[in-house]
Amino acid sequence: MKRLLCLLLSCVLAGSLCACGSTSASSAASSGPQPETDEFYAMDTVMDLAAYGDGAKAALSAAQTQIETLESLLSRTKTDSEVSAINTAGGAAVSVAPSVAQLLSAAVEYSAATDGAFDITIAPVVSAWGFTTDSYQVPAQEDLNALLPLVDYKQVKVWNAADGAGDQVSLGAGQSIDLGGIAKGYASDTVEGIFRENGVDSGMISLGGNVYVRGSKPDGSAWRVAVQDPADSQSYVGVLSLTDAFAVTSGGYQRYFEQDGKRYHHIIDPSTGYPAESGLTSVTIVAAANSDAGSNTITPGAGTMCDAFSTALFVMGADKAAAFWRSGAYDFDMVLVTDDGRVLITKGIADQFEQSEGSDYAYEVIR
Ligand code: AMP
Ligand code: MG
Repeated sequence: MKRLLCLLLSCVLAGSLCACGSTSASSAASSGPQPETDEFYAMDTVMDLAAYGDGAKAALSAAQTQIETLESLLSRTKTDSEVSAINTAGGAAVSVAPSVAQLLSAAVEYSAATDGAFDITIAPVVSAWGFTTDSYQVPAQEDLNALLPLVDYKQVKVWNAADGAGDQVSLGAGQSIDLGGIAKGYASDTVEGIFRENGVDSGMISLGGNVYVRGSKPDGSAWRVAVQDPADSQSYVGVLSLTDAFAVTSGGYQRYFEQDGKRYHHIIDPSTGYPAESGLTSVTIVAAANSDAGSNTITPGAGTMCDAFSTALFVMGADKAAAFWRSGAYDFDMVLVTDDGRVLITKGIADQFEQSEGSDYAYEVIR
């Protein structure tokens, strides 16, 4: 019998953190030190944070401020954000904060690495489906045909301060960008830096399902991060035991609408303009937190990579995702759930993955 996700996640305080996302994390400690916790709404989702130790309170306060600052820079629905300035500049170069330039550089790199499966210039197509405004519709094919030529990350130009021209960004004519597939991962990277700066050695966060676990639980055991069953919000396909790691899930079940009996989700295949139908129902990307990578809190790191790749590999499908993983170009592991009832786990985390008892899924290791 499937155990209920909510059992694992039995909410807030008493040493446990409810992470209401697709990848969910929980400290099941009922005794021992109690964490500082914070929960708030930002970036269109629920943010849950918990941290232990002397610096915990200051770290969580700084983390919330930082996430809210990032939202004010990166949102494309807030008209005064830097992303809105970029989107309305008509192709002219726009001066941006160093963090925005660095994040956009990373986004372009991950777009190239995934051969455009990840592409932040998908924005006009995401809008055509109504995912930006929540007024959903299936766009006419001729409208999509007109928008698809605008989807091309190669026209995004980023100048970093080190290039001598200051931090600037320009888009191609008619283009706009949507950072919904990468911003929360980047936010989790900045929280890693804030935990480090505040001496927090043990903590966990879930930014709308973008999980970061710092160190281990106070009792020395690994954090347990549940991977939701895409077919049943009350169940999970398994639990990952993680320390110092990011785990980010993309799934078609996370945001969707139904029309004429068909479900349309929010992860768009840039080659068709339609919700990706790759045979995958969720993709969880796991990577080690490389704490010496970021010498400051604005450097995109493993959290950003996990977020971009969870979206991209969902678009690619299992075979291409496995080939990408095998290429070794980037250091990550993954859990794929397929629409024909399989859970595929790469060998790097197979030993850290506990299958759900009595699950109907068939579990396989990708080597
Ligand atoms: P995630 O939940 O991280 O997979 O991100 C999904 C969000 O990213 C969507 O709601 C869109 O805002 C945006 N998005 C959708 N398709 C793509 C894509 N192929 N590449 C980049 N961003 C995308
Ligand atoms: Mg993503």
